[in-house]
Amino acid sequence: MHSTKKTALYIIATPIGNLGDITFRAIEILNSVDLILAEDTRTSGVLLKHYNISKPLQSFHNFNEHKILADLVERLKKGEQMALISDAGTPGISDPGFLIARACVHAGLKIECPPGPTAFIPALIKSGLPSDRFIFEGFLPLKKGRQTHLRKLATEERTMIFYESPHRLKKTLHQFQEYFGADRQGSVSRELTKMFEETVNGTLTEILSHFQSTEIKGEIVIVIAGKER
Ligand code: SAM
Repeated sequence: MHSTKKTALYIIATPIGNLGDITFRAIEILNSVDLILAEDTRTSGVLLKHYNISKPLQSFHNFNEHKILADLVERLKKGEQMALISDAGTPGISDPGFLIARACVHAGLKIECPPGPTAFIPALIKSGLPSDRFIFEGFLPLKKGRQTHLRKLATEERTMIFYESPHRLKKTLHQFQEYFGADRQGSVSRELTKMFEETVNGTLTEILSHFQSTEIKGEIVIVIAGKER
């Protein structure tokens, strides 16, 4: 709904590796709010220092968001302006953000989310796989429900995007072979925007053989082609 109300909460995307990847508008907003909510105040401190942003910081993460939410919403209702940032990328994308966005919407508070970095978009584009329709799966369930979920995804026709940790990459690629077939096309992007950025495209077998003999480090996005119609 269109509104002329003052913005209460800004959800601000921050770089996923390269400190240069922040918008002018994001910096302006971070410099203008009364309070910055940060997933990890030490991590965000590096970014804020780099851009000479000096504002009160409060931590807002998976372990305290339920507890402090009501108080934050009350303060926003009274007119405080806040910005939420996470350790990297867009808050709410496999990061805290959803709960406070929902609470603001329910309270009739205006939120803004200026576009900015997130890891899955560059990984999708670099995969060369269809980007007209895709699903973002985030992190797969670790144990309970993992196999059922993979079985469901085996018939998915849209491009699928997953976040994964480096030490689970090989195991997950082996499972993808099992559920999607060894010839399914995919792509693994590692360390996007950083010095050792790497994207490996090919069949699941080709990708696995690329990573087979190396110790895998860094942050990872996996993109898998949908099932052929
Ligand atoms: N909010 C972030 C976003 O918008 O993309 C995601 C945060 S989630 C906790 C962290 C995961 O995102 C990593 O484990 C990895 O899968 C992915 N990721 C974040 N930065 C990345 C990068 N520079 N290169 C590749 N993957 C990255």
